[in-house]
Amino acid sequence: MYVLKERLAKLNPPVPVPNHCRIRLDANESYKNLPDYMIEEIQRMVGGIEFNRYPDPFSADLCKGFAEYYGVDPNCVVAGNGSDELISIINANFLDPGEKMVVIAPDFAMYQFYGELNEQDIVAVPKNPDFTVDMDRVIAAAREANANLICFSNPCNPTSLGIDKSDVLRLTESVDSLVVVDEAYMDFWDEGQSMMDQVKSHNNLIVLRTCSKALGLAAVRIGFAVADETLTRVLKSVKPAFNMNTVAQTIGTALFKYPDHLRANTMEIIEERDRLKKALAELNEKTGLFEEVLDSKNNFVVVRTLQADAICEKLRERSISVSNHHSFIRITVGRDWENRELAEALAEIANEIKL
Ligand SMILES: *Cc1c(COP(=O)(O)O)cnc(C)c1O
Repeated sequence: MYVLKERLAKLNPPVPVPNHCRIRLDANESYKNLPDYMIEEIQRMVGGIEFNRYPDPFSADLCKGFAEYYGVDPNCVVAGNGSDELISIINANFLDPGEKMVVIAPDFAMYQFYGELNEQDIVAVPKNPDFTVDMDRVIAAAREANANLICFSNPCNPTSLGIDKSDVLRLTESVDSLVVVDEAYMDFWDEGQSMMDQVKSHNNLIVLRTCSKALGLAAVRIGFAVADETLTRVLKSVKPAFNMNTVAQTIGTALFKYPDHLRANTMEIIEERDRLKKALAELNEKTGLFEEVLDSKNNFVVVRTLQADAICEKLRERSISVSNHHSFIRITVGRDWENRELAEALAEIANEIKL
């Protein structure tokens, strides 16, 4: 008789929530599709694919494009079907069940999800009440737990704050565990804070990047792991052989042919984010709707408020979706008119809610 393992029997697939909102500021996507000339180039290149052939298992052209754009060695780059797949691959292969994974809470939920799926022990080190990270505390916790893996996002989703490179370096050099730094949003902060230039001198470091945020390619599923040659060899050995289909490889390769567009577009999103942050801070001065509008290194702005549930509900009634974290709200930057409508809606809501 076949008996399904208990840890699998209790699982349920995530329920996709259809988002029909007119203004969608909940998923940290780029608010702009690719320009028409890039879509035309992609169509031309996809038209040239030999669809009957298997893909390149190592996505060489795509990794080369990524490496040139970010100034890293292509021999240190592995492509994944979104950075999500790379997190899954790292968790499943670098740790055994029962081993320890350190996360810094709150952080991106997928680290803990894959850790639990692989029956690892999660050690959650809390952030300070203001969401900053006490790195000494993280180092002490990792040492005490004899951690096998430490995984965190920098700059952080969902807190919108960045951890200084000097702290990330100190952590990497103070522990015996693998350190995975997820830099999905580093494009919006400062490439000088990236750890990608440290992988060759640190054999326990993997940096993750993605095409889903600043580069505007969430639909296509492309992420990258950057690490030294040994870790890169391991990642290439354990990943599913054909994890990147030829269509995605081709689209990603086309994208990196336009580095000037990508940089200008990223700058534009940063400027839009700063305008959104200023608008929210001004609204808050008038209404006191929030306790605080946080600094942001990402493509979203975080506001702390005790009224998060009520505010999100009232925004949804106006067909505006944001991400509700109950003690705070995460608002992805949208187009200028979307950000303006959001600010107008929040001003109305401030009048409706008894503060
Ligand atoms: C959005 C996001 C990613 C990107 O995931 P993909 O699978 O590459 O789309 C990775 N890490 C964090 C922290 C994110 O917020």
